[in-house]
Amino acid sequence: MIEIDGSEGEGGGQVLRTSLALSIVTGKPFRLFNIRAGRKSPGLKKQHLACVRAAKQISNAEVRGDAIESQDLTFTPEGIYPGQYRFSVGSAGSAALVYQTVLTPLMHADAPSFVMIEGGTHAAWAPPFDFLQHTFTPLLERMGAKTTLTAERLGFYPAGGGLLHARIQPWTEHRPLEILELMSTSLSATAYISKLPAEVAQRELRKVKQAFVLDDDALNTVEVRSLGPGNALCIYCHSAQVTEVVTAFGKRGVRAEDVAKAAIKEMLAYLEAGVPVGQHLADQLLLPMTLGAGGTFRTLEPTGHTRTNIETIRRFSPVEITAAEDDGAWKILVEV
Ligand code: ATP
Repeated sequence: MIEIDGSEGEGGGQVLRTSLALSIVTGKPFRLFNIRAGRKSPGLKKQHLACVRAAKQISNAEVRGDAIESQDLTFTPEGIYPGQYRFSVGSAGSAALVYQTVLTPLMHADAPSFVMIEGGTHAAWAPPFDFLQHTFTPLLERMGAKTTLTAERLGFYPAGGGLLHARIQPWTEHRPLEILELMSTSLSATAYISKLPAEVAQRELRKVKQAFVLDDDALNTVEVRSLGPGNALCIYCHSAQVTEVVTAFGKRGVRAEDVAKAAIKEMLAYLEAGVPVGQHLADQLLLPMTLGAGGTFRTLEPTGHTRTNIETIRRFSPVEITAAEDDGAWKILVEV
């Protein structure tokens, strides 16, 4: 039994999701204690429990400690069972984080799966759908994996109600990933609104247009029917090796211009850093690279999430992951 102290490193929910995925793929049981001890309200929340339940279903695992606020979980997977699944996170809890949990295990199954996940698709502190669709999925494809992800409905904080559809094929051809340069960049932006005046999106996009001197055809307003009101502004940087997405979320009492400012600031920081892999993408690439053919990418200084993911991966797999400073940036190398 692999014993993992959840208070180490970043101390959040990611160590749980990475452990669940790796446990299923490697068949190694684990115990995670001090779960989310680094957080204000520690233990499993609804969001994390949804990941545990989904992982349990696809692996027929024996699980102890899968209860709200539990700080101690043991997970013993039986196998990997592809099939049709429907998981529900409840309210606006992130559908993407459940997807993050079941994706790599189901890629290692011997038959395709079709997975539906209900929850938030555009919520803070989790990968927004646009990031999964435009950034993450194309890179999985470059690694040889065959997955498609669509959003049947979008779900914004706090009402949620989004629905993701994923088709996950067995991963038969593993290709190394190399993303070292940020070249030939062009920008575009989408402002999503649900149950809010279209003017909110237009004001955000006007700011983005001014900041980056964009043509109108690079700007999209998407009015969606969602359970509740919501607004997300995504700015995409398309480049030769990767499309990066930054997202800012509208909130009651926050002016549209200030939502735009937050996204613009994040995109400017990305462009200024001049590295192709942003900090969120960096922590999320490690798992598929470890389970695939490895590779290398240039990014910013590793975040707590990235470092914790590296440590968690090392507990399950003999893979070599090195992070080294490289000419003002960082280079991560995954050798399998
Ligand atoms: P906790 O509540 O304990 O903080 P959590 O389970 O909600 O935990 P984290 O452990 O913080 O979440 O992990 C969040 C994940 O979402 C990380 O992989 C992070 O990179 C990713 N993420 C957060 N914001 C974005 C974003 N804007 N774009 C892409 N990915 C994101």
